[in-house]
Amino acid sequence: MHKTALVLFSGGQDSTTCLAHALKTYERVETIAFDYRQRHRVELEARLVVLDEIRRQFPHWASKLGEDHLLDLAVLGDVSDTSLTRETAFKMETSGLPNTFVPGRNLLFLTLAAAVAYRRGLEVMVTGVCETDFSGYPDCRDDTMKAMQLALSLGMDHRFLIETPLMWIDKADTWRMAESLGGKALIDLIIEHTHTCYLGDRQHRHAWGYGCGTCPACELRARGYERFVTSVN
Ligand code: ZN
Repeated sequence: MHKTALVLFSGGQDSTTCLAHALKTYERVETIAFDYRQRHRVELEARLVVLDEIRRQFPHWASKLGEDHLLDLAVLGDVSDTSLTRETAFKMETSGLPNTFVPGRNLLFLTLAAAVAYRRGLEVMVTGVCETDFSGYPDCRDDTMKAMQLALSLGMDHRFLIETPLMWIDKADTWRMAESLGGKALIDLIIEHTHTCYLGDRQHRHAWGYGCGTCPACELRARGYERFVTSVN
């Protein structure tokens, strides 16, 4: 049985749910994120608040929660031209992918996460990628994850496991998973402190949390929350 995990933790709803899952499942959990000069720094700020709140509100998890790693990946901003790293409006490209797609982003993240996991002796990498509900990012697909698991395991001559708890569930189920892991306290923490909005909006508070309410990330989060609350009540 695997006992240790490294969670790719961005401070959003999905990765916070993955972190809760890891804290429930493993004995020692560390977190990692990447500063690739995201247009909106609120995401990097939010993740520290979420970590603090988890430590404060879930003492039985706090003892398992170890080091947090933030790696500088400014080079990703240099090589990509997307609405996440530049002042460009969100739009769909002719490829059928939204211009929030940063080519190779998850491949780089996983490779660097594996290097950290190797050094720290962590067995499982947990990531919130999902094939069900999103924009079809090719580096979030199940096949890509399986290929990365194999490539990293062979390339580092070390058995890595990539775990993707959200791969086949939709956003309403992600809220349900959070509720089953941490009850109302975790739902409230996710609403109040996680950040999802592409525009970095922390001014407008909705039932589902902060955000502009109209960007694709907000719409997805809002729709999922709506279906979650209407199904539980
Ligand atoms: Zn938004």
